[in-house]
Amino acid sequence: MPLSSTTVHLPRGAVVEVPASLLEGGPGSGRAPSSLYDVVILGAGCAGLSAAVAMLDAGSTGPILLIDSRTEYRDDRTWCFWDVEPTPFSHLARSRITTWEVRASRNSGSRGSIPPGLSARASAPATAYLSLAANDFYQAALDRLAESGTVGLLLGEPALGWLESPTEVFLTTASRQIRAKQIVDARGLRMPVAASPEEASPVEAAEARRGRGTRIHPSETWLPQAFVGLHIVTERPVFDPGSCLLMDFTVDQGCGLRFMYVVPVSTTEALVEHVFLTETTLSEVGFVAGIDLYLAREFGLEPRDYRVLATERGCIPMTDSVFRDRPSPRVTLLGTRGGATRPSTGYTFLRIQRSCRALAERLVRGTDVRDPADPPTRSLLDAIFLRFLADHPGRAPLVFHRMFDRVEPSALVRFLSEQSDWRDNARLILALPKGRFPAAAAAVLLGRVRHARH
Ligand SMILES: Cc1cc2nc3c(=O)[nH]c(=O)nc-3n(C[C@H](O)[C@H](O)[C@H](O)COP(=O)(O)OP(=O)(O)OC[C@H]3O[C@@H](n4cnc5c(N)ncnc54)[C@H](O)[C@@H]3O)c2cc1C
Repeated sequence: MPLSSTTVHLPRGAVVEVPASLLEGGPGSGRAPSSLYDVVILGAGCAGLSAAVAMLDAGSTGPILLIDSRTEYRDDRTWCFWDVEPTPFSHLARSRITTWEVRASRNSGSRGSIPPGLSARASAPATAYLSLAANDFYQAALDRLAESGTVGLLLGEPALGWLESPTEVFLTTASRQIRAKQIVDARGLRMPVAASPEEASPVEAAEARRGRGTRIHPSETWLPQAFVGLHIVTERPVFDPGSCLLMDFTVDQGCGLRFMYVVPVSTTEALVEHVFLTETTLSEVGFVAGIDLYLAREFGLEPRDYRVLATERGCIPMTDSVFRDRPSPRVTLLGTRGGATRPSTGYTFLRIQRSCRALAERLVRGTDVRDPADPPTRSLLDAIFLRFLADHPGRAPLVFHRMFDRVEPSALVRFLSEQSDWRDNARLILALPKGRFPAAAAAVLLGRVRHARH
């Protein structure tokens, strides 16, 4: 039975009810724990849950176990992505926006080398920008898994490690030992602490060897996308639900490259995010203060004029590091841990859905299709763009404005959603300012040559 196509939205901020029948060994579960699982999935977040749903959709009937250290499912994020292809969750979207805007500078006063009044507005009616509340996603996925009768979930159970034999994997969690034919590691990814393996602490080095899947090397670029978002509801109508503000750089840039992001759901409800594209020591209170200032400036809203329904926070590592997502025949790394984040943008949700489809094809149907996400040209473009952002943050507002102003919107959406062909890529390259990109390209290529020699 596929995921229910009826859309039931939970109130934003509401905690999800985990079906008792899904909890492995719990009183509501009629299933005895299996002595050998077909697949054990470590981490039941976006990728882990999506993988289990994809396996059921592909016809899986054997026992699957999900293990997560979390104890509950909160409304902890909002996934936005362009509606370029079907996913099992797109029908849950709370908003479908077809116009977006990027602001590099305000109408009055230039900032550094950026002239005033640089704002780009674009529409692509065929490919709306969807926003999906985490609690809707979690509820729909957990209900679907509970209906199957073959999937179990262990919550509050940190996975520790595993040993492989030629026929199975022996997994250890905080309180159990579990046997599986296949392991999927979807425990998420954090920004690496050390710049190189030499600088890594023994624990970090062990983590890296154990299969975090990352190579921390000077030739790679790692850029944090750190943010706090408030999902707010206002007293009076102030938002335009037909348009979202993807990046508003017209905030003070003195403490690093940052922008505001506004995704409305209605005239009185929106996600408002404060995003840094650089290391920052700003506390959560500081992030929220930035949102307050912005809401006052842009919408005339004082804190008493709105209520916060949900808060989200994160630090998405953006990197051109090469991920080993299949370290051995019985282990797959998935989600951010398997390199699902788009290096140049931080978008991850669609790539997770694609890799879950590929995983399900392989583990359930035995068809080994590689996830086609990253042809070499696009991954090179991503690496160059990321390097440029890291080396020239002050130019970023101008570059993003150029992209959204000069590239035909549907071509840009295809590029941002990994569906671009060489013509779209060429349009993008032609739109970018030529000055500093060749230097970024040379740095990336030189780094790769050096890396290959070592
Ligand atoms: C607030 C936020 C907003 C985002 N918004 C977008 C967006 O709009 N669009 C987009 O494309 N991407 C977005 N992303 C990026 C990405 O899509 C999400 O981070 C996504 O949740 C990544 O999925 P994942 O499964 O890799 O990690 P997670 O969803 O974080 O899941 C990892 C799971 O592993 C569990 N875990 C960790 N350690 C252990 C352990 N030792 N044992 C057992 N379990 C463990 C965690 O509890 C968690 O449940 C966002 C990220 C965040 C944080």
